[in-house]
Amino acid sequence: MAETINIDDSYLKNAAKKLISDEVIDETYINDQSNINEKRLLREAISVYPVGGYGSKMDIIKKFEKKYRKNPIEHLLITNKMEDEFKIIKGDNERVVISSDTRSFILSLKDGITVHNHPPNYEDEINFTGRQTEIYGSFSLDDILTFIDDRIVEDRVVDAKYTYVMQEPKIGWDNWLGIYSNYKTDISDYREQKKEEIQEKIESIFNTYKINEDEYKQSDWIHGESTHGANLEVSKKFKIPYARYVFT
Ligand SMILES: [Zn+2]
Repeated sequence: MAETINIDDSYLKNAAKKLISDEVIDETYINDQSNINEKRLLREAISVYPVGGYGSKMDIIKKFEKKYRKNPIEHLLITNKMEDEFKIIKGDNERVVISSDTRSFILSLKDGITVHNHPPNYEDEINFTGRQTEIYGSFSLDDILTFIDDRIVEDRVVDAKYTYVMQEPKIGWDNWLGIYSNYKTDISDYREQKKEEIQEKIESIFNTYKINEDEYKQSDWIHGESTHGANLEVSKKFKIPYARYVFT
């Protein structure tokens, strides 16, 4: 009988993880002394500050994240740095629909911060098994584009395992939008391309090691990691602070 390697703690997972490590900057500029300044500037441009984001220090957000992290229904919390205004919107198992009133509320906030949970997905309708996926994943493309449209200071996503944080670029939204005026198309194209590349790389590692792993668990893991990896690449390319934290 073939030996089964457990994905959760195997060297294989570590090998795949290296490809999409949070230390990708180091890998981009491997030992290149001439790029040391560029590397420092990039690190500054994309680092989330403070560690964990503003939300990790705010009571409303801490409570929301604890309550909804594993909830099967998507919920959205909208608040601001001062925590003097807030609203919670309930969605369904796939999304929260934003009404025009809610949109106005978000846009009216100074230093707006939003958080939503990513509920477990089920199998696609054709192959429906009723199985919940293990990893629910980082910001979707829509999440990123909405975050930019809303010009808020911090956007957060929680799933059962991680907290994902994205913040206003260090140069401020006005300056950033001046530089990246075609961000919708540019981010969409770039993220799609990076996601595919990362998926291929991870799959090739799985194939190389001929891992005997639960097919579903493997596809969940590839989905989760390639989404995060693609968002890291977007963060570097478009200088948008982004980080993933393990929920403890
Ligand atoms: Zn989302």
